[in-house]
Amino acid sequence: MEVSAAPLAALAAELDEVAARRLTAGAERARRLLAGRTVWNVSAAEGGGVGELLRTMLPYARDGGVDARWLVLDGDAEFFRIAARLHAVMHADPGDGGELGPEEMAHYDRVLGANLEEVRESVASGDVVLLHDPATAGLAPGLHRRGARVVWRCHVGTDAPDGILDRAWAFLEPAVAQADRVVLSRPTYRPGFLEAEAVRVIAPSVDPLSPKNRRLEPAEVARLLTDAGLAGGASAPGTAGDGADRPAEPADGAMRAGGSVPAGARTVLQVSRWDRLKDMSGLLIAFAEGFEELPEDVHLLLAGAAVAPHDSAAAEVLDGCLEIWQGLEPEVRGRAHVACLPTADRDHNALLVNALQRHAAVVVQKSLAEGFGLTVTEALWKGRPVVATAVGGIQDQITDGTNGLLVPDPTDLHGVITCVARLLAEPAFAERLGEAAHDRVRREFLSDRHLLQYVDLVDELL
Ligand code: UDP
Repeated sequence: MEVSAAPLAALAAELDEVAARRLTAGAERARRLLAGRTVWNVSAAEGGGVGELLRTMLPYARDGGVDARWLVLDGDAEFFRIAARLHAVMHADPGDGGELGPEEMAHYDRVLGANLEEVRESVASGDVVLLHDPATAGLAPGLHRRGARVVWRCHVGTDAPDGILDRAWAFLEPAVAQADRVVLSRPTYRPGFLEAEAVRVIAPSVDPLSPKNRRLEPAEVARLLTDAGLAGGASAPGTAGDGADRPAEPADGAMRAGGSVPAGARTVLQVSRWDRLKDMSGLLIAFAEGFEELPEDVHLLLAGAAVAPHDSAAAEVLDGCLEIWQGLEPEVRGRAHVACLPTADRDHNALLVNALQRHAAVVVQKSLAEGFGLTVTEALWKGRPVVATAVGGIQDQITDGTNGLLVPDPTDLHGVITCVARLLAEPAFAERLGEAAHDRVRREFLSDRHLLQYVDLVDELL
């Protein structure tokens, strides 16, 4: 993947003086430590939270004088099925229920073996390699033998009691044990076989200057959403964008059901990948069941990236949502919207997410499991009142009642709607939460903190 450079000075200009000085000193230290070495990042995909992190962090590293690079795995459908299964089990979800036995292991090793052949050509002894998520872990032994310093950064995990993840850990342990360090998003994600000394906890971050998070004036928000047919339209309750009560397919190929959120309506938003664990359909059902508790100007918008042709799991989740949408009472359906965002232009997609989050009256993240939950960080950064389930890393971002509201049981539909209704009814409270949310992200979850933790990690590895 091509990595451009983004000016560290611009990031520093967003920070207070002390943090800015620390960032500049950190860049100098990184340059010194990594002179003559390359930092490789390997991921399974370009999108999702990991893609978002690499796309925002690596350009700063490059501007700081570090030769940071990004490789994306090459694999067949079966490999990515196994990777998705591992990912699901790491979230204590049975996923597709398939095996993770010797046959799957052999296939996983075969595909990663082929990738290793390619990578080995470029990676030099003494380089640093960051392997992201379960799909890439199997590269650790080969790269270690090559003389690279290998870090496995796992972005997924669960607080579920020991034993639930055994199936995934049994699969990954031989490879993970060969990494020089393991980086996790939460301390509770550490498996029993790893000593605490081998593990570092580093939470993800958002880049305040990226298209996803940069400031947008209200007029720009309105223009982006109107042009994309997402909000500000004239569609009346009970109709879809083109007047029909079935999903419409606009010219950009991104599907939409329920048309545009009308001008003047307040939007309750969830932006996520079409992944079962994000529980978009649960939120749609919660909205329908709690419909009477919500004011009449409130609309629900579920938005996710357009589904790639080979992504049958995402297509299944989206179809499930659309089926529920079509079965809703007309009155409810008229105030519920399901949108796939165009992805052909990545920056435009990010700007749309940015605009949607800024436009929302309340942002919801009703995940059943979550490694960290960057969509939550993004909404908090924009000063939005957020309602989220108390799962995984969301708990590290939201203190209930202080900078957002947490729903303890992720399956509690009524609990979600009660919180949403409260924020809509108490704008002063919602605003207070939003302000605290923005401050919390500024203090804990911006790129500078994340970059400096990487410098410390590299320092102890070299
Ligand atoms: N995202 C996006 N476009 C979309 C839907 C999602 O850019 O149409 C982004 C979202 O803004 C966030 C990332 O994908 O930056 C998802 O990260 P998160 O940690 O929330 O979940 P993951 O997808 O990694 O499970």
